[in-house]
Amino acid sequence: MEKMPYACEVCGKSYEWSQDVKRHMKNKHQQKQNEQQQQQQYKQQQQQQQYEQQQQQQYKQQQFKQQQKQQQQYKQQQYKQQQKQQQQYKQQQQYEQQQKQQQQFKQQQYEQQQQKQQQQYEQQQYEQQQYEQKQQQKQQQQKQQQQQFEQKLKQQQQEKQQLLQQYKEQQYKQQQQYEQQNGQREEGFVFQHPFTCLVTGPTSCGDFIFFHIYVSSV
Ligand SMILES: [Zn+2]
Repeated sequence: MEKMPYACEVCGKSYEWSQDVKRHMKNKHQQKQNEQQQQQQYKQQQQQQQYEQQQQQQYKQQQFKQQQKQQQQYKQQQYKQQQKQQQQYKQQQQYEQQQKQQQQFKQQQYEQQQQKQQQQYEQQQYEQQQYEQKQQQKQQQQKQQQQQFEQKLKQQQQEKQQLLQQYKEQQYKQQQQYEQQNGQREEGFVFQHPFTCLVTGPTSCGDFIFFHIYVSSV
């Protein structure tokens, strides 16, 4: 066969006119191309479906893995929270025990201090009572001594007065005796100032009392 200027690109058949080649392409190869295109499209659709299915499966697997991870994380968090709660409960219990111990210690210290203060107060009261008793005893002794001193003074004064009265009575008797003996009373016996007088006698004979009476009567 002779070669024509226009050939089919698919099968190589040549024609004299380009319209013939186009017609040939339409009649012979268009349907095949369409079929091939449809097949390719179908394959592409299938591949697309497979790809989508794979993607869906992957997405499901990922979701499942994520859910598992989330569940595990949630369980771990719950476990950690439980542990934290247990630790907090233990810490709370320890704190309460410490507070109780501190309160007991404070209470004991307070009671001990009160006991000490009470003892000190009782000791002070006892010492004060003893001091007051001693002072009362001293005052009573002083009163007794003063009373004794006053009694002695009174006795001395009474003795002096008795001695004075005795001396006055003796003098009065002596004067009466002297008047009876002499019949008359001597008068005008006067000391002239200044004069010297000496009163003598044995011990405790009344010379001082005589001098006292004489001076007081001038
Ligand atoms: Zn052809």
